[in-house]
Amino acid sequence: MKICLLLIAAGLLICQTVQGGKTFSFEGYRLYRADPFSKEAAAVLRSLHDAYPSEPEPGLGLTFFNYPSHRNVKVDILVPPRLVSAFRKAVAGRPDIQLELLHRNYGRVAAQADRENRQFPRLMKRLRRAVRRSDQLILNHNQYLRYDQLLEAVNSLAQQCNLLRSNTCRQQEIGSAYEGRKLIVLRIEKSQTDKQKRKVWIDGGIHAREWISPATVLYMADVLISKGLNRRMWTPEVVALLDYYDFLMLPLYNPDGYEYSHSHYRFWRKNRQTNGGHPSQSRVCRGVDLNRNYGYKWGGSGSSSDPCQDNYRGAGPFSAMESAAVKRFVEQENSDKKILLFLSYHSYGQYVLMPFGFKRGAYPRPALSAGKMSCVAFFGSREMFSTNHRFYIHGTSADVLYEASGGSDDWAHGSLEVPYSLTVELPDDGAYGFLLPPAYIRNVGSEAVRGLLAMLRTIHDLETNTNFYRTRCLAHTAASDY
Ligand SMILES: [Zn+2]
Repeated sequence: MKICLLLIAAGLLICQTVQGGKTFSFEGYRLYRADPFSKEAAAVLRSLHDAYPSEPEPGLGLTFFNYPSHRNVKVDILVPPRLVSAFRKAVAGRPDIQLELLHRNYGRVAAQADRENRQFPRLMKRLRRAVRRSDQLILNHNQYLRYDQLLEAVNSLAQQCNLLRSNTCRQQEIGSAYEGRKLIVLRIEKSQTDKQKRKVWIDGGIHAREWISPATVLYMADVLISKGLNRRMWTPEVVALLDYYDFLMLPLYNPDGYEYSHSHYRFWRKNRQTNGGHPSQSRVCRGVDLNRNYGYKWGGSGSSSDPCQDNYRGAGPFSAMESAAVKRFVEQENSDKKILLFLSYHSYGQYVLMPFGFKRGAYPRPALSAGKMSCVAFFGSREMFSTNHRFYIHGTSADVLYEASGGSDDWAHGSLEVPYSLTVELPDDGAYGFLLPPAYIRNVGSEAVRGLLAMLRTIHDLETNTNFYRTRCLAHTAASDY
């Protein structure tokens, strides 16, 4: 009897530990990849997405790693043990859905990824004792950082930047997230008196679980500072880049969600605000999908009105504190139409996406504007491929991936008239997915930097050489396509 009581007590203790902050384990969870061959098959996946949301208790429903919109777009789905038979009943055996079991126990994969993120920095330290670092960037880029560490890293970059060249970098707090964490923009401005300079906006980490995105934006900032300002590392093209453009970089757009994905639920996507539950149910669900909360064509296809869904668009355009802060800041920075390129980094899938995402077959106007943007996406993708031989697909999100209204890239071009607005889905193509090991940060970062250089090179050519579009772009992309 006494033993039973002890067991019950131990059981309660375990429950309390889990609720008190232990990371969700995913033990026994299966990861499936579903490839729908027909419209009806995609609709079946969408109905499963809507029927089993991953909230109000994260991990008990189905977690879709990407939204099932079109036929022939593969969808990775994390299935808890209790839903395996219901899921298989709905999907397996259909001739128009190819179902592949990627991992029988995703808990093991997630635990391994967690161990690597903690052990890899020590491993790198040991290696570096023997091998002198070949490049002397300011940061190590060997770990997915927590929020506090990330702010420290941004601070180090700003300080080193100003030691290399005074008054060049500045940290600007543009607002705060729902739980009070700061949104910090790193400004890299080589000459703050040049009013003619155009600006480049770069953000990362709008979706919490996409850890490679903030890590990549930090890496890019480090390269811009180290190779653009440090005489021992000067790379002419990066030096020129800082002469031509000012950079406004927000490495961590969604710090609350990001922290939650570290501390509780690895595959959390939205921010962490309380929504008050679905009107027709007694559930209380948290989080707004910040990349469905923008004002251009808000509320349309690919976004949900259900607060329990991963792609919940919020109560209204810019209803989330984070997106409202970014809107205020970007609008102010663009009041003189100086933002030339708006870039948003996500993962995973390897895409370079241009507007518009809200509807299939919707393109920027005039058609030449769409053609130019497509050309920039093409040269960016090609350069990233040539770096590590990872292939990127380019096109509008709605055409090549899924319809998604209320996205930041649509807003930047559609509402603010930023000439070039692109979303990059970083690696990989699904082998690791969101659990890309930290050993890849530098590898993906260098790929992203080369992609950025190629995109800005192409934009510069398009803006200064009237023949460039006809001679270099038309072979790859024609305005008549749009
Ligand atoms: Zn994303």
